[in-house]
Amino acid sequence: MYTGNTKNLGVIGDPILHSLSPVMHNQALLAANLDYVYIAMPVKSHVLTEAVNGLRSLNFRGFNVTIPHKTNILPLLDTLDEDAQAIGAVNTVVNDNGCLKGYNTDVFGFVSALEKHGFSIAGKKVVVLGAGGAARAVIWGLIKQHAVRLTIGVRNPDKAADLVTYFRKYMDIRLFHWQQESFTAELVQADLLVNTTPLGMFPHDDAMPPVPWEQLNPAAFVYDIIYTPSKTLFLQKAAEYGHQILNGEEMLVGQGAAAFKLWTGQEPSAEVMLTALQTTLAKQQTQQK
Ligand code: NAP
Repeated sequence: MYTGNTKNLGVIGDPILHSLSPVMHNQALLAANLDYVYIAMPVKSHVLTEAVNGLRSLNFRGFNVTIPHKTNILPLLDTLDEDAQAIGAVNTVVNDNGCLKGYNTDVFGFVSALEKHGFSIAGKKVVVLGAGGAARAVIWGLIKQHAVRLTIGVRNPDKAADLVTYFRKYMDIRLFHWQQESFTAELVQADLLVNTTPLGMFPHDDAMPPVPWEQLNPAAFVYDIIYTPSKTLFLQKAAEYGHQILNGEEMLVGQGAAAFKLWTGQEPSAEVMLTALQTTLAKQQTQQK
């Protein structure tokens, strides 16, 4: 039962209808017996300032930020944590008595999922496919965790050049067209291959980035941050070639769990969050078929 004491949380974005965060957070709040509620709030770009100031005035304890506001929200916040600052994108805001602090918990989500599966990034050679918004958090996670070699493969290197130049102040990063012959040499020695493109995401399940699987280091760990479907064609192929694989569900849960802890001070049950996520995804996919 919600009362006058109930604290408010939510997510802003556009569109927001299919956000998985409300169900993940409300189930975890219920399991932890915490007096909070989490709602989805559709916010168009032209009213972002009013919405953010409104949430501050309404004394929301915090909120998540999703597409298209992750970057535009930066100047509206009072402070940023190190990850949000480095990436230039915020996915979580904490409201401490009117002072709004922006965080990026996607980085933690990406790294912690790998660690849970026994993969430590330090000293590893990594190839990342794609250079969009999600890749920024992935690249920063790899830099922070001391990957030793970082290569980006994309369909359009000119478009990715700014992002790569930005992160080159932290480490040497190689950029290739993913069908360039010299890119294969990077795959041969990769310890980790990460897909950050939407290729293969529902309902376009029959697509995947062009990986010459026979050339990839047979010991490479293969990670697709997509979570719909749970096993993309990219991961199916990787599994066929005997690679250890991981999808994006635990990254999503990890970023949510880190936000939950920032707002409530308590560690949520990752298991409750994952089950809520998988149940909702299964329902959404049945409805959309
Ligand atoms: P984005 O900003 O649009 O970036 C996508 C990247 O993939 C860009 O480099 C883009 O290249 C490339 N790309 C897009 N369509 C392509 C195509 N048809 N062929 C080749 N390359 C293509 O998207 P995003 O926000 O980074 O999201 C990417 C994926 O990550 C989505 O599937 C999303 O669901 C997933 N994601 C997962 C999590 C998680 O927690 N698991 C979190 C965030 C995102 P161009 O620049 O050439 O267009």
